[in-house]
Amino acid sequence: MPVEIKVKIKEVIRRNYNVKSFRLEVPGPLNFKAGQFLSVKLKDDPQLKKYLSISSSPTEKCYLEFTKKLTESDFSKILDSLKAGDQVVIEYPFGKFVLDESFPKIAFLSGGIGITPIRSICKYVVDKNLGSDMVLVYANQSVKDVVFKDDFDAMVKSYPALRVAHVLCETQAGFKCTVGRINREVIKSEIPDYQERKFYLCGPPQMVEAMRLLLAQELGVSAEMIVTENFQGY
Ligand SMILES: Cc1cc2nc3c(=O)[nH]c(=O)nc-3n(C[C@H](O)[C@H](O)[C@H](O)COP(=O)(O)OP(=O)(O)OC[C@H]3O[C@@H](n4cnc5c(N)ncnc54)[C@H](O)[C@@H]3O)c2cc1C
Repeated sequence: MPVEIKVKIKEVIRRNYNVKSFRLEVPGPLNFKAGQFLSVKLKDDPQLKKYLSISSSPTEKCYLEFTKKLTESDFSKILDSLKAGDQVVIEYPFGKFVLDESFPKIAFLSGGIGITPIRSICKYVVDKNLGSDMVLVYANQSVKDVVFKDDFDAMVKSYPALRVAHVLCETQAGFKCTVGRINREVIKSEIPDYQERKFYLCGPPQMVEAMRLLLAQELGVSAEMIVTENFQGY
């Protein structure tokens, strides 16, 4: 059952030019599965409430983290002004975008800020050394939009069964990536064993639907092998 609690911000981390993570001090044991989301309410105002994925893993026991793309909205502006010691009201856990540990091979397709629950799941698998074979295909407009690059680089180093393939709309000197969009050719070259994998798709609804159709209609992946999380609001 989700619980609503008032919590203090422990730390704010800038991830890129428009994305920040907020680490919260949560009393008692953390109660969520990697990939789930919470609601965040600012100033106790129901108008200032958003659903946000938990970007930390249950193995990171000292805090609960969410990560928000900051826009021109009132919610974003107020959130952007918060610092360590300020309070927010959260309710959690929600959601079914969680790892099915019975599948040894996983693929994640993500766009932009849609990386947040995937970061949580990957960190959990790596910390627990679950042995799952994971491929992440992560699409962004440009390298400046990539979130959690350092985290994923560190995870790839310590857990050889994780591979990350970046897809960018524009080239970037010194950054290994495919230029373009996630399409049939990208899936076939980056995930040649795609027929053996359970897929997790996360991002803006339009992107998730395009990925779902690509997998289902162009590549023949069956519906039960595709799990989606739509970031409604983008
Ligand atoms: C299950 C789930 C998980 C999610 N997880 C995440 C997550 O991990 N991270 C994340 O960032 N999002 C996540 N989202 C999306 C999130 O809930 C918000 O909908 C999204 O972040 C948009 O919020 P916003 O601050 O842009 O506000 P909105 O009010 O939705 O703003 C929408 C757009 O309108 C513009 N706008 C609004 N007000 C003004 C204004 N006064 N002046 C000018 N422009 C304005 C904004 O710039 C923005 O481009 C998730 C959604 C769901 C359903």
